[in-house]
Amino acid sequence: MLNPHPGLPEFTYVKPASLDEACGFLAEHAGESRPISGGTDLLVRMRDKAFKPAYVVDIKGLEGTDVLAFDPANGLTVGAAVPMNRVVAHPDVQKHYPLLAQAAKSVASYQLRNRATIVGNICNASPAGDTLGACLVLGGRLRIYGKDGERFEDLVTFFKGPGKTSLQPGEIVTSIHLPPPEKGAKGTYLKLGRNKLSDLAIIGVTVYGFPDKMTDSGYRFKLALASVAATPLMPPVVETVLAENKITEDTILKAAEAAMDACSPIDDVRGSAEYRKDMVRNLTRNAITDVWEQLQS
Ligand SMILES: Cc1cc2nc3c(=O)[nH]c(=O)nc-3n(C[C@H](O)[C@H](O)[C@H](O)COP(=O)(O)OP(=O)(O)OC[C@H]3O[C@@H](n4cnc5c(N)ncnc54)[C@H](O)[C@@H]3O)c2cc1C
Repeated sequence: MLNPHPGLPEFTYVKPASLDEACGFLAEHAGESRPISGGTDLLVRMRDKAFKPAYVVDIKGLEGTDVLAFDPANGLTVGAAVPMNRVVAHPDVQKHYPLLAQAAKSVASYQLRNRATIVGNICNASPAGDTLGACLVLGGRLRIYGKDGERFEDLVTFFKGPGKTSLQPGEIVTSIHLPPPEKGAKGTYLKLGRNKLSDLAIIGVTVYGFPDKMTDSGYRFKLALASVAATPLMPPVVETVLAENKITEDTILKAAEAAMDACSPIDDVRGSAEYRKDMVRNLTRNAITDVWEQLQS
């Protein structure tokens, strides 16, 4: 079949020298400009005429966007321009945040991950974004720069709907910060796609668990679901079930059914709402079982 949209529309490429200049330009041209990082979402949407920015503002090379650093006391910082392959290959990410590496590795193909960034995945705000769940359960916090200076925002409040975030005109996310992982924590990301390569999630289930003496079960679990609502979903009821009851097969099934009941997926080309709900239950059960087995070993 012939591609009905063979080319990109014309636009002006802007390469600012500083964050101040970038934010000032984006604010001055609000509604007709967009930041670009890897471009793997933005350029496709421009080609498909979903976005028609007159200006594309390159944030790569700006202060703090190239940082990828771990410090045991403070955690991990991933700059907005750091490609996913760099994150996946980083020894500290593999050692301390294997869940993030697993989630990033599930995105598309190696070639795409040479360009695609985690911050771009977040700012794109697709409910299907593969790295959003890991960043949420790991307690992600965004560093955001705007014309009035810097602010920080927890990732849990950032998503406002498909493609919508709390970013104000002129604001740029410069990095995401993850605190040090909980002691003894384990996690997994299970993604259901139509094929094993280069497809968005029909659903995605991220589970993160760690010992916690404050709960009746002795453990605390966090769950994030992709592609089941307008924004990534973290149903608190699932965490409550797993905190208040001894972890058994029955408890895990009860938690998985609570996850299924909490989500409100849509029908689309990748799957029906009914299928998605069933798969949320099945993959949630499998993911919690997997993390529980890791915690026991
Ligand atoms: C073939 C193909 C397969 C794909 N498969 C997957 C997949 O399996 N899983 C998945 O999750 N995604 C997938 N995607 C989508 C995309 O690759 C990811 O969302 C990627 O992480 C986007 O990162 P990027 O750096 O390329 O973002 P960009 O395209 O540069 O930007 C994405 C959006 O965020 C905005 N933005 C970028 N950086 C910033 C910033 N620093 N501050 C504020 N706003 C910013 C841009 O204006 C744009 O709206 C796929 C895309 C393609 C083309």
